Amino acid sequence: MKEWTNWSGSLRFTPAKYVTPKRGSDLRKLILAHRKTGTRIKLAAAGHSSSPLVKTTDTLVNLKHFKGIVRHDTEEATVTLGAGMSVHECNMALQDIGLALFNTGDVDVQTLAGAISTGTHGSGRGLQNLASVLQGVRLVNARGEVMEYDEKRHPDVMKAMRVSLGVFGIFTELTVKVVPLFRMRRLEICTTTDDCVRHFDELADQNRNLDFYWYPRSDDAKIRILNEPGEGTSTFSFPYKCKEDDEDFVGKVLPKHRELRFDEMEYALPREAGLACFEAVRNRIRERHRKEVAWRVLVRSIAKDDFYLSPHHGRESISISLHHNAGLPFGAFFSDLEPVFIDYGGRPHWAKIHHMKAAQLRPLYPMWDRFQMIRQAIDPEDFFMNDYLKQLFDDDAK
Ligand SMILES: Cc1cc2nc3c(=O)[nH]c(=O)nc-3n(C[C@H](O)[C@H](O)[C@H](O)COP(=O)(O)OP(=O)(O)OC[C@H]3O[C@@H](n4cnc5c(N)ncnc54)[C@H](O)[C@@H]3O)c2cc1C
Repeated sequence: MKEWTNWSGSLRFTPAKYVTPKRGSDLRKLILAHRKTGTRIKLAAAGHSSSPLVKTTDTLVNLKHFKGIVRHDTEEATVTLGAGMSVHECNMALQDIGLALFNTGDVDVQTLAGAISTGTHGSGRGLQNLASVLQGVRLVNARGEVMEYDEKRHPDVMKAMRVSLGVFGIFTELTVKVVPLFRMRRLEICTTTDDCVRHFDELADQNRNLDFYWYPRSDDAKIRILNEPGEGTSTFSFPYKCKEDDEDFVGKVLPKHRELRFDEMEYALPREAGLACFEAVRNRIRERHRKEVAWRVLVRSIAKDDFYLSPHHGRESISISLHHNAGLPFGAFFSDLEPVFIDYGGRPHWAKIHHMKAAQLRPLYPMWDRFQMIRQAIDPEDFFMNDYLKQLFDDDAK
């Protein structure tokens, strides 16, 4: 079998087999066959995660054949989609029928299932992460059974399913909330970092989507703002240069194509601590890492939710991401900054690089034990776990 690598190239492993089933019954057969031989399955979607969530030496599955709109419920304003669809494919399929997702992250090449499973988010004070669109799932569990869970009948399980790192089974269909198709206007301005930080709260209140990049080399900032046309801020009380002004349907204007590959560490901080943490990160990078850090730091806002393993559980958040060019060593840089995030109460992004283990994670998540109980009830034999996930969830892990 060929070596599998993630998008940035920092995660590499060789599974014994790579399988792309065509339908749910193929998955069922596959799971039953693996149970007989005591081997396991992991599912890798678009491979945009840097943490080894999908690592296995047994069988790696990909759902590239699970595509398309299965159902549209106009009364409930939901659409059921094949779980192998990328965010881009979802956006375009919805756009064709006059619908949209309320938000996306920065790119649209990852699958919606992968994004939902890891708490992927965009940026906006009033916008929850992408898992909040999930209303129901069809999944194949570790016994090869096809199960359906939804918000109305299983609200507790759905709070666990929404950010669940692939540990409950393989989602084959996702039912998601949709809104009527809408247009967005993107505005990007460059300014000093001090002005950006000084005006961040007021700008975040006035605009639907807002985030900023800080560039350590120049110490400048780029603010990205998105609103429905005619809404939000378009003039500013501080000096700035206008970089870009663009308008299109939400699914086209929000995500950007990323040529330059990078590795990333990201923590979600309580809103009140976010900007102070950013200043601490900024100082530490300027003092210790300016020479080797070639790129940028991204600061975003996310509304709170009640999903058991969401980094935004119970608290409005500011996330800070360190972007380091792929191929350059990131270990010392990320490890030196991680304690700063932890000091400010940070919770790691599940898909990105971090070094937290169960004993540190558990106190950060009020519903941690509830999540583990539901996981053990649905997958008592740990069929969908790998060594990395065991370190995340097992209190005795070193
Ligand atoms: C360039 C780039 C930009 C990014 N932008 C953002 C951003 O703006 N905001 C943000 O928060 N994150 C962002 N991320 C992180 C990214 O959204 C996550 O890594 C996401 O999980 C990637 O989805 P994927 O399809 O690649 O899933 P993978 O990385 O392949 O898998 C992620 C997890 O989802 C599980 N999974 C996937 N499909 C299923 C399924 N059908 N059933 C059950 N489990 C499943 C996998 O088992 C695994 O645990 C970005 C990453 C990159 C590389």
